[in-house]
Amino acid sequence: MTEFKSLNLLPSIMDALNKKGYKNPTPIQEQAIPHLLEGRDLLGIAQTGTGKTAAFSLPILNFLGKNKKKVKPSRTRVLILTPTRELASQIDQNIKTYAQGLGTRSTVIFGGVGHRPQIQTMSKGVDILVATPGRLLDLMNDGHINYDQLDVFVLDEADRMLDMGFIRDIKKIISYLPKKKQTLLFSATMPTGISSLATSLLKNPVKVEVTPQATTVEKIDQRINKVEKSNKPLLLKSILKDKEIKSVLVFTRTKHGANRVVKHLLADSIASAAIHGNKSQSARERALGDFRAGRIRVLVATDIAARGIDVKQVSHVINYDLPHEPESYVHRIGRTARAGREGVAISFCDKEEEKLLKQIQKFIKLDIPVDIAHPFHGVAPHVVKTGAATGQSRRPKSANQAKGSGNSKPGKKPFQKRRRPKKKTTEANKTPSA
Ligand code: AMP
Repeated sequence: MTEFKSLNLLPSIMDALNKKGYKNPTPIQEQAIPHLLEGRDLLGIAQTGTGKTAAFSLPILNFLGKNKKKVKPSRTRVLILTPTRELASQIDQNIKTYAQGLGTRSTVIFGGVGHRPQIQTMSKGVDILVATPGRLLDLMNDGHINYDQLDVFVLDEADRMLDMGFIRDIKKIISYLPKKKQTLLFSATMPTGISSLATSLLKNPVKVEVTPQATTVEKIDQRINKVEKSNKPLLLKSILKDKEIKSVLVFTRTKHGANRVVKHLLADSIASAAIHGNKSQSARERALGDFRAGRIRVLVATDIAARGIDVKQVSHVINYDLPHEPESYVHRIGRTARAGREGVAISFCDKEEEKLLKQIQKFIKLDIPVDIAHPFHGVAPHVVKTGAATGQSRRPKSANQAKGSGNSKPGKKPFQKRRRPKKKTTEANKTPSA
């Protein structure tokens, strides 16, 4: 296995890696760093969680450390563009950690906070600028940023940029950059808009591709909780009654959905907060900070807001709604079982989501076990079973057992039979979860 030692990074960078406890480069780091140290352009097909931040930051810092230069006011030598504020902050923090002892100046620029401190920092010039596109353009338009000392440009999460409608802003920013520079483009997927951008932007790039690690998915204890849509809030609360569950990331498809979940939880005095695109920067940072510090147990997030969130202690991911893209399922559950820890991923699935579940299972090439013992399995809409949400036991009896109907044979679903007497249940053929 390759060690960082063999990559010829500057001693102060090696010290920072040692302090972080990183011994071996991840696959993307191993493949990308040697080419980047040679100054090559790069097309990286990779997503968060693969170690891509260090894959581009380390060679950039190595370059800056070896080629020190006085940066003029309003200039930056490196521009890193990323779609969300959270990712921008995270990249900036990582860079600051790896750069200890190098004497480089880095800063981050994003919207939702005051302009003035950002303008002040830029007025002195920086080595590395990490930014989201909107605020960067604002500052550029007001003449606060000049690119005539730019050496390296990194476009991170390019497919998300496209999704979030940033592509015109990106093209505009690119039009201001000098022709001669090293360019790195990272994207988890390659929609046509991005591959044509890559073709026009990159010169003879090295292509490095890493897929989500299957081992990550295998390490996670995954289960499906089939549930009526209107029972989802009750199911979530019943799961959270287990005080052993300390740090939970709940995913919803929409921002409103995330707000609704938090409202339900707060009504039950469960410390929680939502994080999504409609929240102010300070609200997002507070929520993330509280979650990291353990002041709140539950963080409810949408896919875009959660992308890149790296909170090591997340023990449970709950998919309150299943995602439309199977890739997002892997992203989401990959938020748990970080840093060698174990993790649990529970996915709620109502009848309308069965198709999504099939797509996910096909994508991950795995049949996720169905938990038929959860308290809302086979429970009709809005029915609150006595004791169901009290969390008296971790694995309560199934609905029919609890009701003492006597109809407790595995695979026999009174609720499904009641509602759709003539339809054959597909679930009856499935092996219940262990
Ligand atoms: P990223 O994909 O850049 O968001 O990185 C995902 C996580 O992996 C972060 O928590 C990094 O701190 C961590 N990481 C990055 N490189 C390494 C490495 N070589 N060894 C161990 N952990 C790493």
